[in-house]
Amino acid sequence: MDLRENADDRSFRDEVRSFLEDSLAGEFAAVRNRGGPGDEHALFEERLAWERHLGAHGWTCVGWPKEHGGRGLSLWRQVVFLEEYARARGPGRVGHIGEGLLGPTVIAFGSPEQQRRFLPPILAGTELWCQGYSEPNAGSDLANIATSAALDGDDWVIRGQKVWTSLAHWADWCFVLARTSPAQDGTARHAGISYLLVPMRQDGVEVRPIVQLTGDSEFNEVFFDGARTAAENVVGAVGDGWGVAMGTLSFERGASTLGQQLNFRNELDAIVAAARRTGTVDDPVVRERVARAHIGLEIMRLTALRTLAGSEAGALRPEALIGKLYWATFHRGLGELAMDVLGADAMATENPALQRLFLFSRADTIYAGSNQIQRNIIGERALGLPKRPSE
Ligand SMILES: Cc1cc2nc3c(=O)[nH]c(=O)nc-3n(C[C@H](O)[C@H](O)[C@H](O)COP(=O)(O)OP(=O)(O)OC[C@H]3O[C@@H](n4cnc5c(N)ncnc54)[C@H](O)[C@@H]3O)c2cc1C
Repeated sequence: MDLRENADDRSFRDEVRSFLEDSLAGEFAAVRNRGGPGDEHALFEERLAWERHLGAHGWTCVGWPKEHGGRGLSLWRQVVFLEEYARARGPGRVGHIGEGLLGPTVIAFGSPEQQRRFLPPILAGTELWCQGYSEPNAGSDLANIATSAALDGDDWVIRGQKVWTSLAHWADWCFVLARTSPAQDGTARHAGISYLLVPMRQDGVEVRPIVQLTGDSEFNEVFFDGARTAAENVVGAVGDGWGVAMGTLSFERGASTLGQQLNFRNELDAIVAAARRTGTVDDPVVRERVARAHIGLEIMRLTALRTLAGSEAGALRPEALIGKLYWATFHRGLGELAMDVLGADAMATENPALQRLFLFSRADTIYAGSNQIQRNIIGERALGLPKRPSE
């Protein structure tokens, strides 16, 4: 793949840039740079309106195939879109779980009826999703889930508890991993799990917020106590949801994380401005750490380009496996640098964005696969090392 921008690419970049600049100048000026991890509580209604504005102009789900309502953009153009979005300081997207996780899953594994039912509201920003995987005894060891679903007439009836469910308090729907037949020993534990689409706004679903370090609540406990969903709302075959669930995770670890380094660049710029303000810019140790952060950003960009250059027909290469481990560790370090640059001022309330960066980035090395799990994945899938012994 030739990654040099040609005239068509440049005019695409210009089109994205002018749409975002125009849109974020007027009625949506207030949402600029708000939302996203650590700031999700901010301006929800306004950001929901923004999501619908993007949808109305065809700027949601830009990587989805055209036949499913997307723009069918190549990976490279998706990165251009994300870069311009970050450059314009577009707000954190309230629809990102539907766009990035559930939508691609329904496109890859869903029936035509499911595609017709569930994709258009994600494109339009009228239905929001959350991810019901983790449970108190099933995080890294996801196959240990205990939530169950049993058929009762034309409905599945779901019982169990999910935890850390991001944005469940806003979601209209949840994609839930549930056991539809009992757990077995060994690798067969993966069998008997189904991938259910469950409406959130019903009796039998209780969402309890969990307060985070930041003082806000972006994730929740979700209790299913006799919640129902229609029998046909299973993605893939009944009892065969594990492969579908892994497909969703590959989307999470794939294209959606490319291009995010411009958000990190904005944060590094804010740290440099703070270092100038506080005088720590003259400290040689701070200068070196800032330089290292700059280099880290360049490494991320070059790795993204290398991944794209080697990818064919949208498939991600093994290099993509290092992305999560690298960016999560980098970002956690960036939060620590922000605090060291601010010194005692870090505790003052006029630094909320940098405080949030520090506090929320502690989670980066945990969610979407912890650093230890990422190393296992790299060892087994990229380097071909022997699999770790199963429990
Ligand atoms: C901000 C945030 C948002 C989240 N959002 C969602 C969401 O929307 N939906 C959802 O379903 N989940 C969500 N999660 C949950 C997330 O997926 C889990 O936290 C993650 O999978 C780790 O699971 P755990 O917390 O149970 O930790 P555990 O799996 O109990 O891990 C504890 C520690 O042991 C290590 N460890 C575990 N197994 C191994 C192993 N085999 N080899 C080496 N080390 C190991 C881990 O790396 C970790 O350090 C979210 C988490 C966070 C922090």
